[in-house]
Amino acid sequence: MAQALAAIDPEHPEQDILYALPDSPEPSYSSVAAHIEETLLGLLDDLTLPERHRPQAEAMRSRLQNGLNWYELLPILDDLATLMLAITDSGQHEFEAYLQQLNERLESFQSNLQAASAGHADNRSAAREMDTQIREQVDGLQTSMQDAADLEDLKHVLENHLEGLLGTMDQHQKQRDEREQEVAARLQGLAERVAHMEQEAMGYREHLEEQRQKALIDPLTGLPNRAAWSERLEHEIGEWQQHGNTLMLAMLDLDHFKRINDNYGHLAGDKVLKIIASVLHKRLRGSDFIARFGGEEFVLMMPATVPAVGAKLLETLRASIEACPFHFKGERVTVTISMGLTAFKPGEHSDMVLKRADQALYRAKNAGRNRVELG
Ligand code: GH3
Ligand code: MG
Ligand code: MG
Repeated sequence: MAQALAAIDPEHPEQDILYALPDSPEPSYSSVAAHIEETLLGLLDDLTLPERHRPQAEAMRSRLQNGLNWYELLPILDDLATLMLAITDSGQHEFEAYLQQLNERLESFQSNLQAASAGHADNRSAAREMDTQIREQVDGLQTSMQDAADLEDLKHVLENHLEGLLGTMDQHQKQRDEREQEVAARLQGLAERVAHMEQEAMGYREHLEEQRQKALIDPLTGLPNRAAWSERLEHEIGEWQQHGNTLMLAMLDLDHFKRINDNYGHLAGDKVLKIIASVLHKRLRGSDFIARFGGEEFVLMMPATVPAVGAKLLETLRASIEACPFHFKGERVTVTISMGLTAFKPGEHSDMVLKRADQALYRAKNAGRNRVELG
């Protein structure tokens, strides 16, 4: 029977809380099946799936919910891997389709704008036409007035012409109102479309950023992964070259970790890794950057840190891991870590620095482990 792991107090990882380890060595499949099923179901829940992949995921979910035996595990892992590859691929397609759609909308947007500007030009020629018509009517009025025989005749002529003028103006006013309404409706439509497009683009941007962030985190420990490390390394090297501070790099590797797995099982090993990652993370300063390099190895970057300060910080990390109160069936289990520390030298490639840190780590291992070596 596996015991529950005691909660960690995030503020005081060093206080005497016992981290219980599962008490049977390598567990049988039936005892981990529920854990595997739960993890895979959780993974399925977390996946953002395009519509067409959902039935596949649902089928997988019901297979998982019905319970797995050892022989069903491999095919389901294969299916999951295929599904994840398909999602990455379809994400790409979706984005391409979105760009295509955006392009079409921009084209229709442009033709609408052209129509609106043509409407504006129509207005100008209509105004010119009205001007000509009014001038013609006033000319006509002058001629008719000169031809009028008496006052009664003149009054009559005047009334007729005024009526004609008012009619012309009314007609033009009406046409202008109609055209203005049409242009206003068109502009309103365009504004709505632009707002909609902005909203959509923002959604895509957020989604892409979310995906990017997910891809940079190691799922077991929650620490940045190797891809995140490479990105940050480039950034910190740029800063270091600009400001000329000391940039330090350390490689960290748990001691005899294979024994933890061999003696207490992989699940216990995973728990230890998780706890150690969280202890390391909490002990670091805001400007330090730690990542899981792989397996039970971590890499650490300490910008603007001189070797003496870096070594002292690593020493506190080392001591806090050693003091972590793991226990197994009531007996204390001590986990230790070895570290190799080195500083960047002007002009050298980061691979050289990593290699030097790794050599220092190797010396720490050879000198008995549970120690920090400067390279
Ligand atoms: P050393 O002190 O020389 O580093 O000894 P070690 O046993 O730690 O070194 P080795 O490289 O031989 O073995 C590392 C072990 O770490 C092997 C592997 O089983 C274990 N390991 C690596 N990643 C994980 C993981 O994600 N979970 C668990 N449980 N174990 C892991
Ligand atoms: Mg190792
Ligand atoms: Mg090791």
